[in-house]
Amino acid sequence: MTTPTELEALDRQYLLHPHQRTDRTDRTLIVRGKGCLVWDTEGNEYLDAMGGGNWAAQVGHGRPELAEVAAQQVGELEYFTSFTDFTNDKAVLLAERLVKLAPGNLGKVFFTNGGSESVETAIKAARLYHFRRGQEDRNWIIARHYGYHGTTLGSGTLTGFPPMQHGVGPVLPHVEKVMAPVPYHTELYGGQDVTDYLINELEETIARIGADKIAAMIGEPVIGGGGIYIPPDDYWPRVRAVLRNHGILLIADEIVTAFGRTGAWFDSAQRGIQPDIITTAKGITSGYIPLGAVLMTDEIAEILSGPESFFHGHTYFGHPVACAVALRNIDLIQDENLLLGSQKIGSWLSAALEPAKDLPFVGDVRVVGATVGIELVADKATKATLSHPFVENIVDEIRHAHGVIVRPYPNTIVLAPPLVLDEEQAFRAAGAIIDVLSRVRGDNDLAPR
Ligand code: PLP
Repeated sequence: MTTPTELEALDRQYLLHPHQRTDRTDRTLIVRGKGCLVWDTEGNEYLDAMGGGNWAAQVGHGRPELAEVAAQQVGELEYFTSFTDFTNDKAVLLAERLVKLAPGNLGKVFFTNGGSESVETAIKAARLYHFRRGQEDRNWIIARHYGYHGTTLGSGTLTGFPPMQHGVGPVLPHVEKVMAPVPYHTELYGGQDVTDYLINELEETIARIGADKIAAMIGEPVIGGGGIYIPPDDYWPRVRAVLRNHGILLIADEIVTAFGRTGAWFDSAQRGIQPDIITTAKGITSGYIPLGAVLMTDEIAEILSGPESFFHGHTYFGHPVACAVALRNIDLIQDENLLLGSQKIGSWLSAALEPAKDLPFVGDVRVVGATVGIELVADKATKATLSHPFVENIVDEIRHAHGVIVRPYPNTIVLAPPLVLDEEQAFRAAGAIIDVLSRVRGDNDLAPR
């Protein structure tokens, strides 16, 4: 039997972690979960206020229903390809289910293994759509600063954080970034109305590149990894209108926001928009097994599947086990009314975090569905930012002192708990954050661990 200490040493020796600071040598080895709680190898209990640490776990950890359906499907048919004319019952039924839950006329589904692959697929689909309609130069993609779309070469180019592109050679060409709505930071918009500013910038960008050269614009309906920024009500409808006028497709990246995370099956519907393509992943299986999906209009799908076919797709497209788990997961979200649950969690967290607003470093508290961003600033008046390691240290302290798992994105403490979080747990998570923030006095107050 490998001991916890040995496992940690083996981890340090053999595993390269994503997004890991090199000065961190500690490890937290999670081995078990139930509901909103998880345990490490030493038996320490944590409240998972971050959906498996990564915006998933909608139905909570350790659900026997999902274990059973996965085991049953492995016993029945573990895998068979969906390339060419082959298919399987679970992929078909899941595609039908997704189309019925999606807003408007998104009639076709393309499966992937996760978020970045969904975005990669959407980029290729949008470009190929225009190419096959004779507009070969329509291959630019507009993305946004503060946006997060993944880490593969294409999706990573769309991501609005320069370090993602640094040092990896030429990135995807023909990508242009515009500003996103970050309403708390009014200083970014030169005193103008946020939407007016952004629509103006978008129109100018389109004019500069040429509308006939732009395939699509991509955006998260609500910015997630950039720090939970909720757009003004008129932002998306106005963006949608501009894009439609210019024949530019709209890709809504709902890898985080779908499946109840913001209180709806798909957040686009709440923002009053009808995207041409939706990318999703994470909550589709509550993270129990990797799966992503791209939803698109019949018109796009028809053009992609023309005589030349869509020369794209991965070995595990429509994986029967992943699709069986997704179907059961969606049943659970529906049967347990977790969309409403998500909204309830948001109202408990809003109430519980009310006292945090008076603390010196708390600039803004934003809540959408069961998702919360607490933006920390060095100075409330100037909104000067704090260093990311400092915010990381605060998040570590929340975990070490209170056993509550939240995450820093980048200066915003984010909570995206399972949609089965109860009221007591919501107040416990908020209490932990308030306690640690009340004890912090300055940028160097909490030494790195
Ligand atoms: N898009 C959004 C909005 C995301 O938040 C993420 C991941 O967090 C991705 C894309 C990439 O997904 P993945 O990490 O599954 O590749």
